[in-house]
Amino acid sequence: MSTRDRGPGGPNRAGGHRRKSGRPGKPARSSRPIVRRGTVRLPADVAQQVRLGHPWVYRDALGARPLREASGAPLELVDSDGEFVGRGIFDSASPVAIRVMTRLRDERIGPDLIGQRVEAAIALRRRLLDWDTLDAMRLINADADGLPGIAVERYGDYLMVQLYSEAIMGFRQALFDKLEEALSPAGIYEQRRFRPLSGQAPKGGAELVRGKAAPVELEVREGDLKFWVDVSAPLATGLFADLREGRRAIGRWAKGRRVLNLFSYTGAITLYAAQGGASEVTAVDVAAKAHARARRNFALNGFAPETPEHIVGDTFKVLARFREHKRQFDMVVLDPPAFASASRGGRPWSAQRDYAELVAAALDVLAPGGLLAAASSTRKLSLEDFEASLAEGATRAHTSLRIVERCSLPPDFPTLPVFSEGNYLKFLIAIRD
Ligand code: SAH
Repeated sequence: MSTRDRGPGGPNRAGGHRRKSGRPGKPARSSRPIVRRGTVRLPADVAQQVRLGHPWVYRDALGARPLREASGAPLELVDSDGEFVGRGIFDSASPVAIRVMTRLRDERIGPDLIGQRVEAAIALRRRLLDWDTLDAMRLINADADGLPGIAVERYGDYLMVQLYSEAIMGFRQALFDKLEEALSPAGIYEQRRFRPLSGQAPKGGAELVRGKAAPVELEVREGDLKFWVDVSAPLATGLFADLREGRRAIGRWAKGRRVLNLFSYTGAITLYAAQGGASEVTAVDVAAKAHARARRNFALNGFAPETPEHIVGDTFKVLARFREHKRQFDMVVLDPPAFASASRGGRPWSAQRDYAELVAAALDVLAPGGLLAAASSTRKLSLEDFEASLAEGATRAHTSLRIVERCSLPPDFPTLPVFSEGNYLKFLIAIRD
């Protein structure tokens, strides 16, 4: 249903300690990356980043000689003096060649370590979140929980495991065993989000790997609100746990405002706006099926399902129509996918390239003093470029914006301080002049 670009697996070409490719000439013998089979020497700057906790070593950083290990093989990492830096696993298919799993000399990569990491990740969420009022949460956030390439979300009694790298396939059973032992879920679903080496595209749906099948519509709670989710859906379940803080912020700002929710999907933001006391809510999405789920979400929470205006259509066309009719709103919410499905003049809209255009079009229907809530979970769009798009969009619309609130990933999506690749969510609320 949705194609948001929010997984923890893909590298961000712009960030991190990725080195400029093509180190001059051949590395001198002493700096050759492969010391012996299973041991890799890291360039000094990369070793330093890994010591600080950066979990990725890009292929570029290893020089020209390819590693011959199989995907998933454990590797020992040393610095230019041969001193131990850490251990990781090799990924032969990704620009991230090594995923670091430990910086402790005594810690060995294997099923026991996987089990310990799963336990620790769950314990962290138990400490930080209220499980009685929150059913949809991330239990394992890949590298930040010491489990590279693995994301696990809990939806009530069901778990959804997303695997982002071939290299961690060998850990699956240990992962599932520990999840079952720790949580006794009714069922566990798996989604593979990487391209297998055979070259075939990832499979469509989620696969039930443990327990019993979930109902197609499963009810989950988020604070005072309830949502229907589908844990067997091919991509998204219907509720994005990572945008929780943004939804709450919209709920707090909506009172008395006419709210336009663009790219409304299953209506989570629409519902928060209605609950927050919006005077009127209009939701736009190109997918009629998404609106159908949104109506059911409204009904589930005791709201009249037909109260929000649900418009099936392309955001850009709808905005042009509103502008023509001089229809205005007091709050416009933009949370587009990485690529918007409908094309404008033959070219699909891209968040990375075209965000400013969307901001300008949204500001055309936002009344003076109104609020623009803008989000993007596209890794390829940095926070700096995202803010620049807001400024550019405002300039094009002959107005200006001042940011009044910033939201970030919730505590169940922890991030590592030197690993900007993990901090992909941008969410700002700005007031227009
Ligand atoms: N804001 C939502 C998530 C959006 S997911 C939330 O908070 O849950 C992206 C949505 O954009 C999908 O539902 C998809 O159908 C919709 N979409 C994609 N291209 C679109 C377009 N051109 N116009 C309107 N909706 C579009």
